[in-house]
Amino acid sequence: MAMKISVVGTGYVGAVTGATFAEVCGHSVLFVDVIKDKVDKIRSGKAPFYEPGLDELLSKNRDKLHATTDFSEVRDSDAIFLCVGTPPSPDGSVDLSQVFSAVGCILPYIQDGKFRVIVTKSTVPPTTGEKVIKRLEQKGLVLGRDFGYASNPEFLREGNAVHDSLHPDRIVVGCADKKTEDVMKKIYSSFQCTKIFTDVRTAEMIKYTANALLATKISFANEIARLCSRLGVDVYHVMDAVALDHRVNREFLNAGLGFGGSCFPKDVKGLISLFENMNIPTNLLSSVLDVNESQPLFGINILKESLGGLSRRTVGVIGLSFKENTDDVRETRAYPLIKGILSEGARVVVYDPLASENFVNEYPDVGQKIVLAKSLRDAIDSSDAIVIHTAWDEVKRLSPNSFKEGQVILDGRRALDVEKFKNSDKVTYVGIGW
Ligand code: NAD
Repeated sequence: MAMKISVVGTGYVGAVTGATFAEVCGHSVLFVDVIKDKVDKIRSGKAPFYEPGLDELLSKNRDKLHATTDFSEVRDSDAIFLCVGTPPSPDGSVDLSQVFSAVGCILPYIQDGKFRVIVTKSTVPPTTGEKVIKRLEQKGLVLGRDFGYASNPEFLREGNAVHDSLHPDRIVVGCADKKTEDVMKKIYSSFQCTKIFTDVRTAEMIKYTANALLATKISFANEIARLCSRLGVDVYHVMDAVALDHRVNREFLNAGLGFGGSCFPKDVKGLISLFENMNIPTNLLSSVLDVNESQPLFGINILKESLGGLSRRTVGVIGLSFKENTDDVRETRAYPLIKGILSEGARVVVYDPLASENFVNEYPDVGQKIVLAKSLRDAIDSSDAIVIHTAWDEVKRLSPNSFKEGQVILDGRRALDVEKFKNSDKVTYVGIGW
């Protein structure tokens, strides 16, 4: 049954979630954002950022999608999804100011006695739902009568967000009251995947636990890679064999330069901060971040050994976004990587098909010291050594002949054909544990 949904916040999660509701369920969706530019883009059927397939989904469903900066229009909704940012505070705890600001923005328009469900899709620490409910109750609203509340964490991956949203592994919904559960079941009735209905705190905890486990797998693989690199063992072969055990899933056991993005670093920090607030020691999660912080430096040391020092050499860094198929540079490992290479006295030339501008704006300290190459070809031609940071498709297609004679290549993402490159006389190919 088609319903009326408002989506507050038109970032990666909000824009994709809204478009998916229209596509899969036929719901009518109102996007609300405080940034007019983003709203205008969505109105014109375009995504406010780069995400494969999203433009098509937005324009295809234009008749069901509306966008505004005017919060009063949420009045008409059956449910209001909060998809605003939850960045880390300087101390690592989760900054919930956008969530409470969004609640403040919708509040004047939900006090008319009509039952609507407030759904938090943003990643928020356990007990946040209770705080949001309290804020609404302080305004005289009664849970279960004037409003419902659900936590509905999102698991999409940037770069694959449209696919993940259309075909989720599971849908997790934590409901504060029975009426809310009924509404959420209706909203998601067109999805065939496993649906987990639980309480609000459990839903909030599931999201943090999922991201912390995935980040842990990556750091585990990276730590093992350090030893493999000294032993001359291929960590990918090790992980392939380890994962043949039915208790182990092979995903996210790929060693490289570490994880970035807007979620894993911040969510692990947020979880650590929850432990600290409750005076529960945690060593594992801090180590996950430590390994991740030092992994680019580990890569730089491998490069230094292969090149015989970096001073006055030119290093081409390929890829600035935190991963391929996105222009998002939040927490990208390219930042500590380039910073570290520069501190060795090298000149750095960079190439990224999409993310250069975002990178220079987000990291001006490093941005001012690097040279932006016009093309992948230019970056290769002007460098003594190449570091592959992001596995863009055009990078994956490179062969040894694409490089200069004697060039050193540090493949930070195992993007290239390892056998071909290792057997090549033309270049020196090094991996991080392979
Ligand atoms: P984002 O920063 O891309 O987008 C947030 C949007 O919210 C922005 O457009 C901003 O203008 C808007 N906003 C801020 N305050 C507002 C307000 N008061 N009213 C209306 N709009 C407001 O964030 P994102 O990457 O989409 O992430 C959103 C949440 O989802 C975060 O909690 C994040 O951790 C979580 N999440 C993100 C991903 C991901 O891959 N990006 C995946 C799963 C979960």
